[in-house]
Amino acid sequence: TLAGKVALVTGSTSGIGLGIIRALAAEGADVVLNGLGGAAEIGKVREQIAAEFSVKASFSPADMTRPNSIAEMIAATVAQSGRLDILVNNAGIQHVAPLEAFPVEKWDQILAINLSSAFHTTRLALPAMRRNGFGRIINVSSTHGLIASPFKAAYVAAKHGIVGLTKVTALETAEEAITCNAICPGYVYTPLVEAQIDGQAKAHGISRDQVIRDVLLAQQPNKRFTTVEELGALTVFLSTEAAGSITGIALPVDGGWTAH
Ligand code: NAD
Repeated sequence: TLAGKVALVTGSTSGIGLGIIRALAAEGADVVLNGLGGAAEIGKVREQIAAEFSVKASFSPADMTRPNSIAEMIAATVAQSGRLDILVNNAGIQHVAPLEAFPVEKWDQILAINLSSAFHTTRLALPAMRRNGFGRIINVSSTHGLIASPFKAAYVAAKHGIVGLTKVTALETAEEAITCNAICPGYVYTPLVEAQIDGQAKAHGISRDQVIRDVLLAQQPNKRFTTVEELGALTVFLSTEAAGSITGIALPVDGGWTAH
């Protein structure tokens, strides 16, 4: 269904972004990967996606904290393929600390990667989408874009912020066959979450299994992690013509967490 389309996913060398890029490639889209990681490993992922799905898979090492580098990424994508149909703003990091102890440079870094990068990709991708009369922008927010938890000031602020950016983008593009939506996953088992498990175990003095059950999934009524495949399938749907009237929403994918 997405043959001939070009999709760029920020932060797609790992976790949710990689799952989304595989789902888009499986539907025939040519894909542009982005993110951190070793050149050899990223090269292997590109080759595998290209071979498995018979699509073009390229890579941009653009650092999402740097507007110039984001501009180069978008310009190179449009120069290479003449189009950019699907933009998924997914790159993100986390840091957990109480407000008074929250490192100022972490605040700046999280706001830059989790929020400002999406402003830059969006403003730079819109001209190409408008030229083609088609565009899909999917912002990976979080349950923490809708509700808060303690000790995640920067993350919660950035994820709420991206829901606001999503709404403005939707309104400014509403008449142009361009849609912009946010998806709000609950906990997904990825390296980002794995990195929190040992810390939480130490903080609470409990085992890893207890952290997963009693801390992470305590919030999630269906008692399991959301999967990258579920998020990939949702992104594919939002990218189709059939989803053309869906714009400006922030859709929870959280097993009932925000129903509390
Ligand atoms: P992850 O750590 O597995 O992947 C993060 C990706 O972002 C990686 O590809 C990494 O290289 C990239 N990245 C980090 N800093 C970057 C930078 N400066 N420039 C470019 N790329 C950079 O994490 P994940 O869990 O897959 O998270 C992906 C997104 O999903 C994030 O925005 C995260 O907030 C969001 N999210 C995750 C969960 C979860 O439970 N895992 C839940 C809700 C939302």
